[in-house]
Amino acid sequence: MKRYSGPFFTDEGFIQAQIEIEEGEVKEYKEGGDGGEDAIILPTFYNSHAHLGDSVVKEPPTGTIEEIVGPGGLKEKALSSSTEEEKSESIARYLTESISCGVRTLFDFREGGLEGLEPLKRALDSVDLEGFSPVIMSRPSKKEFDAWELNQILSIADGIGLSAYRDWDEAQIKKIADSVRGSGKPLAMHCSEDVREPVEEITDLGIHHLVHMIEATEEDLQICSDEDIPIVVCPRANMFFGKTPDISKMLDYDLTLSLGTDNAMISNPNLFRELETAYRTARLKGEISPEEILNMATWNPRRSLKTSSIKEEKDSLMILKYRNGDPAYNVVIDSSPQDIIEVVRWKNTKE
Ligand SMILES: [Zn+2]
Repeated sequence: MKRYSGPFFTDEGFIQAQIEIEEGEVKEYKEGGDGGEDAIILPTFYNSHAHLGDSVVKEPPTGTIEEIVGPGGLKEKALSSSTEEEKSESIARYLTESISCGVRTLFDFREGGLEGLEPLKRALDSVDLEGFSPVIMSRPSKKEFDAWELNQILSIADGIGLSAYRDWDEAQIKKIADSVRGSGKPLAMHCSEDVREPVEEITDLGIHHLVHMIEATEEDLQICSDEDIPIVVCPRANMFFGKTPDISKMLDYDLTLSLGTDNAMISNPNLFRELETAYRTARLKGEISPEEILNMATWNPRRSLKTSSIKEEKDSLMILKYRNGDPAYNVVIDSSPQDIIEVVRWKNTKE
């Protein structure tokens, strides 16, 4: 049996607590207590938005957002010119690194339709998952509604994650949204990353969450707030394209924000780096509590991005090297994957 005590990050903030661990599982938890090794205890990280497939690109991408990740751009060309083996190997490397960074749930926006699911499946079979579970947000192979393909995808994937609304014909995307709704699975989408898109029309499709919202107006943020649509922000990927999400303003609108690393070709899976970047990005606009930022990789996605494939009993805790002072500030500013002492299974009984 092993004991740790120290600041424990609950859904209401940090409290002093002590946990007892047996065979990799939390057996006892009590508030207060000062026995055992000092540690910072956190729920494991969610990476709420990534594209694992483009980890196959190894050269620095050049060009505009459209030229790099838009339809027919560098990313699509790289995906279609790489072999299945190259794709699954690079995805497996990305998954292994994610796990070593304390990530246990990851939303993969999977390109390539039905075929695109294969390299991920092979990669997942080749990696020691240690309790890691992917949430596979697939999409049709073409920008048109194909009932047969969509049904096949929905029978395997956890949901549908589309590219920008403006890439689609309105009638086609509506048919896709209707089918996804009928399946009971979530539909997510990139939104207002490069240019503003019509949020009202998009939310009418029945949206589980939106990614980016950099170019959203205050009116658009208000719509998401009113309709309780969670937003995923990816500050490192945005900065690569010379942009920053206005995290402080989004929080002013009471939006539930989560963090994603986005394209694997431009951001590695290290959530500690994403936390630090989010904190610094938010500070460009003013004061922000590091705890709000830490919530974006831990409690916010647990609260707002639930899908039927995310099960409570799969939850886990990360035990981090103890540092004096404010624990949220220390994790966001100072901590790194090397500070993870261990990850343990944890029955999170609180909803
Ligand atoms: Zn993306």
